[in-house]
Amino acid sequence: MGKTVVIVGGGVIGLACAHYAVQSGHRVTLIERQPADHDGCSLGNAGMVVPSHFVPLAVPGMAWSALKSMFTPSAPIHLRPRLSPALLRWGFDFLRASTTARATAARLPLRDLALFSLACYQRLATEQHNRFALRQHGLYVLCRDEHTLQEEACLAAEAQRLGVPAEVLDARALQAREPGFQMRAVGAIRHTLDAHLTPQALVQGLRTSLAEAGVEFQWGTAVKRWVTTRGKVSGVQTTTGAVVGADAFVLTTGAWTPETTQGLQLRLPIQAGKGYSLTLPTPPVLPQACFILAEARIAVTPMGQTLRFAGTLELAGLNETVAQRRVQAMVSNVAGYLPQFTPDQFAGITPWQGLRPITPDGLPYIGRTRRWQNLIVASGHAMMGLSLAPGTGRLVSDLLDERAPAVGLDPFSPERFG
Ligand SMILES: Cc1cc2nc3c(=O)[nH]c(=O)nc-3n(C[C@H](O)[C@H](O)[C@H](O)COP(=O)(O)OP(=O)(O)OC[C@H]3O[C@@H](n4cnc5c(N)ncnc54)[C@H](O)[C@@H]3O)c2cc1C
Repeated sequence: MGKTVVIVGGGVIGLACAHYAVQSGHRVTLIERQPADHDGCSLGNAGMVVPSHFVPLAVPGMAWSALKSMFTPSAPIHLRPRLSPALLRWGFDFLRASTTARATAARLPLRDLALFSLACYQRLATEQHNRFALRQHGLYVLCRDEHTLQEEACLAAEAQRLGVPAEVLDARALQAREPGFQMRAVGAIRHTLDAHLTPQALVQGLRTSLAEAGVEFQWGTAVKRWVTTRGKVSGVQTTTGAVVGADAFVLTTGAWTPETTQGLQLRLPIQAGKGYSLTLPTPPVLPQACFILAEARIAVTPMGQTLRFAGTLELAGLNETVAQRRVQAMVSNVAGYLPQFTPDQFAGITPWQGLRPITPDGLPYIGRTRRWQNLIVASGHAMMGLSLAPGTGRLVSDLLDERAPAVGLDPFSPERFG
């Protein structure tokens, strides 16, 4: 007999957790504070499934770059100055995690989780008749200058050592791979295992299949308070006033995790990292694969007949306004790499924004908490939430079923910051 499970948060992580929990025979209620047709971080993102991204944000030198960025609001990564004790503590943890030793130690668990998740995507695509258009054409990292190409080539060599295949291409070899798609670059790295998909189709497909499987969705309902008894969570009180009880609870509230867990005496530091995307409905040309414009940190992904450009990371708190200056900076950088895409083609396109949930060490929180035996956390996936969603969902179902998790969870412990 399966358990009753309440999942709090209906982004891609919550939906993936629900998918595998239902497959394991559990009865799931999913509570999401937004209405059923809501937008959010899990929908307008760049749609890349990237096992090549095993380097966390917290690396030596990054904290200094973030501090300098306070004075350049249009930089691809920008820390908006503000007095916030939570940001200060997060910054301190980030600084402590930004050592070579810790960044290197994070690579193996991130690689394992990402490869596991890619395998889960391949199975999910078969089960769901690939409604979300998973395409495995690789990812090209386009470099405009030699120095960046050399840095990326070092990462490619490291990827090879870790069993994640990558190749270095010069400008001519690069252009030959995507003949109609003009590129200005000295060369590129091709990460061959990487893939892309259409996130809206993934999210919609999961919502539909979960509803068909009998999942109870409580849309437009926020969790306000946790009810606990003797080391266990017994229920969540929602904005409707009702208390929803269950055998197990899964917390997947992304960037809102610190505020959602108030009263639980857990320390789950997360800062929101805002990013934007712009989707061209009728691009002049469509590549097969997805791309990263390295120096500008812009992702470019074909989704059906449309082409999405996504990027920027702004640490500005839970602030969902669009900073036009940052969007314009992103747009004006595109033509430098892709001359067929000029700023006027983006005129009139409404920018989308989303808040990435960023932990100080770049690893998500996945696991049970010691304080509350029946509470599982799956949050803080930063720039990798789409890539890691099905893998995370499978691991959460391993925990619900009390099976040994398919990937070691120690590095992802939700209580590693206290
Ligand atoms: C510009 C951009 C590009 C990106 N590109 C990629 C990419 O190419 N590949 C990749 O892997 N990742 C990418 N990401 C990151 C990815 O989108 C996120 O990591 C992922 O969407 C996080 O999913 P989530 O389910 O944890 O959070 P969310 O999607 O934010 O879901 C959390 C949900 O919890 C709900 N919630 C909050 N509080 C409560 C409450 N009290 N009660 C009930 N519900 C609550 C929220 O309303 C929200 O719907 C990108 C992100 C951005 C911004």
